[in-house]
Amino acid sequence: METTVVGAETSVDVAVVGAGPAGLYAAYCAGFRGLSSAIVDALPEPGGQIAALYPEKKIYDVAGHAAVRGRELIDQQVAQAAPFRPRYLLGRTAASLTPGEDRDQGAGWTVALEDGGRVRARAVVIAAGLGRSVPRTLPGLRPYEGRGVAYHVPRLEEHQGRDVVIVGGGDSAVDWALALAPLARSVTVVHRRTAFRAHEHSVKQMYAADIRVLAEAQVTACTGAGRLEEVRVSSGGEELTLPAQALVAALGFITGLGPLADWGLRVENRQIAVDRAMRTNLPRVYAVGDICTYPGRVPLISVGFGEAATAANHAALELRPGSRLAPAHSTDPDTAPLS
Ligand code: FAD
Repeated sequence: METTVVGAETSVDVAVVGAGPAGLYAAYCAGFRGLSSAIVDALPEPGGQIAALYPEKKIYDVAGHAAVRGRELIDQQVAQAAPFRPRYLLGRTAASLTPGEDRDQGAGWTVALEDGGRVRARAVVIAAGLGRSVPRTLPGLRPYEGRGVAYHVPRLEEHQGRDVVIVGGGDSAVDWALALAPLARSVTVVHRRTAFRAHEHSVKQMYAADIRVLAEAQVTACTGAGRLEEVRVSSGGEELTLPAQALVAALGFITGLGPLADWGLRVENRQIAVDRAMRTNLPRVYAVGDICTYPGRVPLISVGFGEAATAANHAALELRPGSRLAPAHSTDPDTAPLS
């Protein structure tokens, strides 16, 4: 995966904002049309909601896959785009969009990043999903972020042999508890209510598994010199001290358009309005995936793939007037990226 240096300026044909499934596929489709791309994502790894919320879950409704684990789908997408060498700018937030000096000469747009980096692109595909998502937290957790406290579980193996405390009562909390139980030294779920919001079947599995469940309980403090060592929990009038090298706060995310709200885009119900070619109201700026809206849109991974293909091919047509809208077939030996 080709990454770029913080603060550096990058020039490409297409800037993709968002490395979820729609953004990754947009980069592939742009590459297939001979366009270079850079993919910006605020998260430290590609995959969007899939990587952040359900990397270990099987997805059953992606065309061509009877079942595919979230992480595997993203790995395959990264591999699919790799022949076209998209540049990944991960852990970096796209802050503003401004027109380049001479759009006809290819200057197009400049996407400025929060860390001072800039991506100059002739076209932009916004694939920002739910927009900026900020994890909900609890008092006392922030000082241990990255030092034992996390808001999702990118790699289960990291928790091998650890005492893990998971806070929350939704699907993510229960799914991670079930996934970690076989490899962690201990797993404790702390939830402030008696009833769990998670799927009933998963909750039953959790109670049957080797998982300690503390319902009607709250985390009151984290302690440790440098790294997290213990978590204090108030449960049924008792104060418990749990050894913990990891705490996963699965409390959900606060989402919003974030900086995109100031980009001059036409927004409807916190989503970017597009036409049938996935064009926004700004020239050569497209929106695809869950961030975009049009009448009858269905928020599914497979729908985002189609939108990404539509946007990338329209961008190719606009950037190379006289070219065809429809791409060549990938089965054609002259065009197949892996041939
Ligand atoms: P996302 O996956 O949301 O990715 C958007 C990316 O944009 C994020 O990584 C975000 O960090 C980044 N971003 C946003 N703003 C900025 C910015 N300013 N700068 C930089 N980066 C930015 N769908 C299915 O089809 N089948 C399923 O079985 C299924 N199961 C699901 C289970 C769960 C628990 C959840 C939560 C969702 C599920 N979905 C499922 C929905 C599916 O995950 C989404 O439809 C899909 O992820 C949308 O993809 P996307 O690429 O549009 O956006």
